[in-house]
Amino acid sequence: MRFLLLSVAFVAATQVMAAPAHVHGEARLEIVVDGNTLSIHLETPLDGLLGFERAPRSPAEKQAVQAMKVKLAQPERLFQLAAEAGCKAETPQLESPVFGGKAGDGHLDLDADYRWQCAKPAALRAMSTRLFAEFPKMKRIKVEFAGPGGQKSGHLTPQQPRFAW
Ligand SMILES: [Zn+2]
Repeated sequence: MRFLLLSVAFVAATQVMAAPAHVHGEARLEIVVDGNTLSIHLETPLDGLLGFERAPRSPAEKQAVQAMKVKLAQPERLFQLAAEAGCKAETPQLESPVFGGKAGDGHLDLDADYRWQCAKPAALRAMSTRLFAEFPKMKRIKVEFAGPGGQKSGHLTPQQPRFAW
């Protein structure tokens, strides 16, 4: 019985630790190169994009949500890739409670999925992002990369917006 209780406590603790941290100013990027496909998943507190984390109230806030959507829907502008890789972006998928108009008062995130089909994926050795320039409240991005050569992690800042692998 005692052993069982300890196990349950351990599982609960691991789950808490595995949950993605919601830290204002910090975002996460997962970059995966698999065959001809490059995928980038962005996860960020809404605060880093909008400065608020609830349903928009004023016309100005509604406009800010729209402007954010427009910026995030431009993968060619947000992520610079080697031209010789010949990557063609697909339509990104954006998800956040703020889009549904049902956002409560808690902390809220945004998830964005980007995908490219690349003619020469071997030419992909790095990417630079304009996220910091577009969203100045974003200060740090944790990066996890997986590709044919293995895995790599690191972080980006406004001074170092380029990740190489
Ligand atoms: Zn928050």
